[in-house]
Amino acid sequence: MGILRMSDLDLRGKRVLIREDLNVPQDDDGRITDATRIEASLPTIRQAMEMGGKVLVMAHLGRPKGERNPKYSLAPVAERLTELLGTDVPLIADWYDRVPPEVENLGEGEVALLENVRFHPGDTENDEAFSKQMAALCDVYVNDAFGTAHRAQASTHGVAQYAPVAVAGPLLAKEIDSLTAALDNPRRPLVAIVGGAKVSGKLEVLKALTERVDQLIVGGGIANTFLLAEGRNIGGSLAEAELVDEARSVIEACRAKGAEVPLPTDVVVAKEFSEEAPVRTCAVEEVGDDEMILDVGPETAARFAELVKGAGTILWNGPLGAFELPQCAEGTRTLAHAIADSEAFSAAGGGDTLAAIAMTGTTEKISYISTGGGAFLEWVEGKKLPAIAILEERADQA
Ligand code: AMP
Repeated sequence: MGILRMSDLDLRGKRVLIREDLNVPQDDDGRITDATRIEASLPTIRQAMEMGGKVLVMAHLGRPKGERNPKYSLAPVAERLTELLGTDVPLIADWYDRVPPEVENLGEGEVALLENVRFHPGDTENDEAFSKQMAALCDVYVNDAFGTAHRAQASTHGVAQYAPVAVAGPLLAKEIDSLTAALDNPRRPLVAIVGGAKVSGKLEVLKALTERVDQLIVGGGIANTFLLAEGRNIGGSLAEAELVDEARSVIEACRAKGAEVPLPTDVVVAKEFSEEAPVRTCAVEEVGDDEMILDVGPETAARFAELVKGAGTILWNGPLGAFELPQCAEGTRTLAHAIADSEAFSAAGGGDTLAAIAMTGTTEKISYISTGGGAFLEWVEGKKLPAIAILEERADQA
């Protein structure tokens, strides 16, 4: 099913309500420490303004639990938007139960920011009345926030149901196009790398991927559980003994399709998880009882890089090791460079993966970096994301 896109519409004179992901990190004094998300939203906002829309931006910040809380005010975001857009972006504080005069009086090509949607309990509850209240603010609702697309909330789902027109913004549309390209009709072979801390958080993803991919590579704490499943001694490494059967069934499912899940043959180990801890590289058979596997070794990293080199499409979530520790970052670095250098279409996503990619300086060379952590993983699992499903429904009715 298709969706309508903001660029398909004539926005002149229309009140356009855009849901953005502006949930930026702040320090203790409320200063924005990373404005990437605000910067990412600028092209959409500018485009809507240039198209003659009366632009209202809405977003959440933190978890204010349905109450007004100055700590979570979007005031610093309004200030930053004002700077970056070079035009005044007023913050509208009272809009939760009415259409305020600031909205009524907004002119063509002007923009304002609505205060945190989560100051009202109805947002996370996808409350019908609050959704209708939001819908009454606009002629056109634009969802541009992929990061919250896996949640059915008033600002991502309910409002799309009741707004006169509901469409995807350019950022969301790009996410949808890229993930569709990577998963629905991928250039083969499709290679997926799933690393990170725990199997438990990614079991569904691993299972879904075994059905779709030509080659699955596991890394990080996840690989430890797989090593355990293969009967290896992994000393004091992070692993989930209760999930070895699940790991074994993933290995079996891949084997049945003719693809082994390659496990680390050499590893980097330490006696404690700290930046000061001395590390050594050894064969996987030589891990001591008092040691932890914190990264793959160079031989393993080179083998994974070789597999990545031959890929048509690459999907990546999760580091190969504890990359925050400089002495345990090499495996992840080798992988990131291999992905960056490959000819394949590469898509990466999920919280720590972006930090790992940024650390290696390869951000520009990955074909597509998803902004959504949970949403990215749920998409890969093959789940329908509610915020996208409702846009499809609305397009169908149009
Ligand atoms: P995730 O959020 O699931 O992608 O997991 C990322 C986290 O996994 C990072 O904080 C890494 O430090 C951690 N991690 C990766 N490999 C290991 C490992 N072998 N042992 C302990 N932690 C790891």
